[in-house]
Parts: sequence; C-alpha cells; structure tokens
Amino acid sequence: TVEIRGVTKSYGDLTVLKDIDLVIPAGSVTAIIGPSGSGKSTLLRSINHLERVDRGYIAIDGELIGYRRDGDALHELPEKDILTRRADVGMVFQNFNLFPHLTVLDNITEAPISVRGLPRAEAEQLALDLLARVGLSDKAGAYPRQLSGGQQQRVAIARTLALKPKVLLFDEPTSALDPELVGEVLDVIKELASSGITLIIVTHEIGFAREVADRIVFMEQGRVVETGSPAQVLNDPQNRRTADFIAKVL
Ligand code: ATP
Ligand code: MG
Repeated sequence: TVEIRGVTKSYGDLTVLKDIDLVIPAGSVTAIIGPSGSGKSTLLRSINHLERVDRGYIAIDGELIGYRRDGDALHELPEKDILTRRADVGMVFQNFNLFPHLTVLDNITEAPISVRGLPRAEAEQLALDLLARVGLSDKAGAYPRQLSGGQQQRVAIARTLALKPKVLLFDEPTSALDPELVGEVLDVIKELASSGITLIIVTHEIGFAREVADRIVFMEQGRVVETGSPAQVLNDPQNRRTADFIAKVL
C-alpha cells in the first residue's frame, strides 16, 4: 500500500503539489492523468524520493520514503539507506534511460549486483528470465543503440523488475515511441498489471488507462481533482475540469 498524506511541494514560489492525499492499495493499478504541468511527474518522483516534499509524507507498506520518524519529527535517511529503500520503488521513464555503454544483460544485472549484492551468475539468470518475460531473449548481448525504442523500453522495464520492487512507477512510458511501437510496451505493462505488483502509471493513453486501471486519478494545478473507477471518471466525471480535460483528450 502506498500512502500519500498531505503532500505539498514547491519550486521557489511555484507550488506544484498541493495537499495531495491518496491511498493506493497493494496490487492495484492506478492511472494518473491531467494536463501538462499539473504535477504528475513531480508526484511520481516524490514517491521515489527523487524529490523531497515540503510537507506531508509518503509511506510504502508503512515505511516512510526517505525519512525515519522520531516522535513527531522526520529525519532524512542517510543516502545509502535511501538507495536501499528506493529499490522498493521501481521507476520507468519516458526516455528509457538505459546505460548506453552496457549490453542489455549488463544493464539489467548492474543494480541487482551493486544494490542487492546478488552473485553475478544469479543476477544473469534473473536477467535472462526477465528478458524472456518482455519478449527479448535474443537481445541479451545487444547494446541499447542497436534496439528500437519499444525494445529499449522493454529492457528498461526488465531492469526495473530485476530489483523486485513492491511498487512500479511509469512516467509516460510510451510517449517517446513511434506509434507502431506503443502496443508492444503497453502489452508488457498489461501483463504486469495482472501479476499483482502495484502499478502507478502517468499516461496520455486514455484507452489503455480505461482498460488496465482499477482507478483513475485526475490532477490539475497540483491538486487531485477527482478519483474513481475508469467508468466513473471517464464516462461520468463529477468535476467540470475533469470533464473538460477528458473531452479534449478522448
Ligand atoms: P507533463 O504532462 O508536461 O509531463 P507534469 O504534470 O508531469 O507535466 P511536472 O513535471 O510535475 O508536470 O511539473 C509541474 C510543475 O512544476 C510545472 O509547472 C513545472 O514547470 C514545474 N517544475 C517541475 N520540475 C521543476 C524543477 N526542477 N524546478 C522548477 N520547476 C519545476
Ligand atoms: Mg510529466
């Protein structure tokens, strides 16, 4: 379970997250939609502690992200503890972010070896299993530049899964892809959605959100404006701004 309580964050004078409260049950699939600049990426980055929040807190299965509690005070964890805890939260970015100088196999084994201390042979077996899962068994020895965007994104997903995260965050995972490559990445995410891992996906693919999400969260100007099932939010939005947005993107 991901608990987001009273989260507020500003960049200078600009408040980009305003008192966000969300509870995301373990094993569920949540799609976050909303206009550009509404704070979707900042919220995902906060869940991964790539951003510090100014107020409120985020916890995963009761463990605070990036902090330890001491009475009422929160103390930031030392960097190495943040790294270990961050491994519970996988993040897949729009632009894949693979290491260009490493093979596909080494991209996937790097973190399990360095963060989890897995022996190389075990890490390689795990990587091969994950490559099979994303349909890329034949690409273990390739370099990222030799792959299509869709293949790179599937490697990025396999790399993230290699740390066995409890929660997987996707920030517009298909928006950098040519249209004909979108489907293969969405298919992998669909398979993950039925695997029981907790997924939070920022996406402009409304049809996909409708199909896989248990819940849709609509954000605007740093606030959660509306949440509900896909049928509720997409077919029968209660808030006018949700309705305006959906009318534009559908
Ligand atoms: P998009 O759909 O375009 O990806 P988003 O909903 O993901 O938008 P964010 O990237 O979270 O929006 O940005 C929210 C606001 O915070 C924007 O106004 C953005 O300009 C601002 N912002 C984001 N990162 C920073 C930063 N590092 N420094 C200053 N302002 C930032
Ligand atoms: Mg964004």
